[in-house]
Amino acid sequence: MKIEKIMKFGGTSVGSPERMKALIPLITGEGKKIVVLSAMSGTTNSLVEITDLLYNDNGNEASLKIEALRDKYHKVVDELYETEEYRHTGHELINSHFDYINNFTLRVFTKLQEKAIVAQGELISTSLLYHLLREKKIKAALLPALNYMRIDKDGEPDYFYIQENLTRELRKHNADSIKITQGFICRNVYGEIDNLKRGGSDYSASIIGAALKVKEIQIWTDISGFHNNDPRYVEDTKVIRELSFDEAAELAYFGAKILHPSSVNPAREKDIPVRLKNTMEPEDEGTLITSDSPLLDYKAVAAKDGISVFRIKSARMLMAYGFLRKVFEIFEAYKTPIDMVTTSEVGVSLTIDNPQYIDEIEKDLRELGSVEVEKDQTIICIVGDFRTERTGSAPEIFQALDTIPLKMISYGGSQHSLSLLIDSQDKTNALRLLSKNIF
Ligand code: ADP
Ligand code: ASP
Ligand code: MG
Repeated sequence: MKIEKIMKFGGTSVGSPERMKALIPLITGEGKKIVVLSAMSGTTNSLVEITDLLYNDNGNEASLKIEALRDKYHKVVDELYETEEYRHTGHELINSHFDYINNFTLRVFTKLQEKAIVAQGELISTSLLYHLLREKKIKAALLPALNYMRIDKDGEPDYFYIQENLTRELRKHNADSIKITQGFICRNVYGEIDNLKRGGSDYSASIIGAALKVKEIQIWTDISGFHNNDPRYVEDTKVIRELSFDEAAELAYFGAKILHPSSVNPAREKDIPVRLKNTMEPEDEGTLITSDSPLLDYKAVAAKDGISVFRIKSARMLMAYGFLRKVFEIFEAYKTPIDMVTTSEVGVSLTIDNPQYIDEIEKDLRELGSVEVEKDQTIICIVGDFRTERTGSAPEIFQALDTIPLKMISYGGSQHSLSLLIDSQDKTNALRLLSKNIF
């Protein structure tokens, strides 16, 4: 059975009984497809809150939250289904998931169980849609992501395993049924329940699309495509109709929430177009991401918070070779990726977004020289074509930001992006000033 496209629907697109019903005309259209769902909006946050409470031994408050969420889902069931038969099935389904979660209030809580609880959001949303289609007499099948989606010891998708097991799951079902599966959740190298990190359903869609070499991966959300700046902070942002994989990957990595940071990579590797669509306005063409797209002087801006910067100074760096290697090896030892790097003859500055080993890294770096660490930083990434005479020196960018202290500038790493480090408190202002000056 050849799957032609992946259709991924995010939290708001399945966020209420009305929205779930509105998916039916979209997913019953032409072509063999796999429908990938997120949890209903707000659910993953609530489940994370519940695990935090359990972690802090606050079983009573966790129980209250679990029961509140259970009630919310019973109301969803009442509105979603028309027949008593399916309402009954729905209530039983909700109870089984929440009884499972509630059981954890009675036991000692570990990190592993956190992932199992958080996974319930996607397990519930997919089952609800599956039963909705069945009630409407539409042929449907559930593909359990925990039976095929797997990450290796480095947290990377294990394509060999995924391809084998997904194909086997597909073979179990009628070719013309609509296949529904969970985004976000997976198993790790030990077979335990894990996930692809927050926002990971986009990544699931892209991994599945790449594993099956589909013709198109569609990411359906609550906005008509990729905008040229972050609509949560800036007014009058505009949709970009075409983006290249490189541009989209860079913007997603540097904070454009519409796409999970890693989600472009699998599609790019297999050269599969990614289309961003709005479930509220399905006629809108949205944004198409392909291997090439028309260049623009300035295309888009994104911002990534939670950045820490290390500034290492050492006289030993002067005229020496091998110094940077020693610096990089420390980050490698703690499996901490570096986002930005700038160097001078006596110092090097690097940024990271994962603070887990920040103290250990600082201690090891002190062996090489003096070290300063600053937290609460933001990377602003501007994507465009920096080869033209006009953008070559990026005058509009620096004019726009002439009132904002720039902590680091990274330019030349690629010909289509420029990154700046600023204090997080300056972010909103910087994004607005950039929009005003460059678009
Ligand atoms: P979903 O739940 O469907 O995955 P997300 O909330 O993860 O949706 O992503 C969509 C949201 O991303 C939009 O509502 C918007 O607020 C935000 N966003 C941030 N940057 C951009 C951007 N450059 N273009 C479009 N949306 C963006
Ligand atoms: N439900 C998960 C989250 O909220 C995954 C996703 O929505 O993509 O992060
Ligand atoms: Mg998302």
